[in-house]
Amino acid sequence: MSGYRAVGLDSDFARQIREERRDAFGDPVEVYLSDSARKPCRHCLDHIPAAQALLLSHRPAPLPGPYSEVGPIFVCGEACAPFEAENRLPPVLEGRKVVVRGYTAEERINYEASEIVEGEDAEPVIRRFLEDPKNAYLQVRTALFGCFLCKVERA
Ligand SMILES: [Zn+2]
Repeated sequence: MSGYRAVGLDSDFARQIREERRDAFGDPVEVYLSDSARKPCRHCLDHIPAAQALLLSHRPAPLPGPYSEVGPIFVCGEACAPFEAENRLPPVLEGRKVVVRGYTAEERINYEASEIVEGEDAEPVIRRFLEDPKNAYLQVRTALFGCFLCKVERA
């Protein structure tokens, strides 16, 4: 089968958040100092260094609808490079339990494709779910809080 690609926020959107300090709903973005809690940036998909972190509300699904959840995410306060790699898990998955969920083309959860794993062990689950044509793409979220981490697409 083909490979996979973890995808973070669009770079134009990340830049807009930094410049305008407003989320997609027009609400103010919170600025705070990142501590040692390994806050995950949803653009570079790495942990935010000891610098300003931006906290905002985000809806990862492109289509509106009942499964289009809104939740909190962090983004690096300083410009960062987008995560661009195929067949490699991004650093934000390391050291945390995650849930991998399949979403249909209609932007609904595929309840047959949902599994909690250690982030480092997510690859076989990702590959298996992407083999199922019912999954248009996957979302990876923190298992404990349900916070969106990244999307995963077929490469
Ligand atoms: Zn970043």
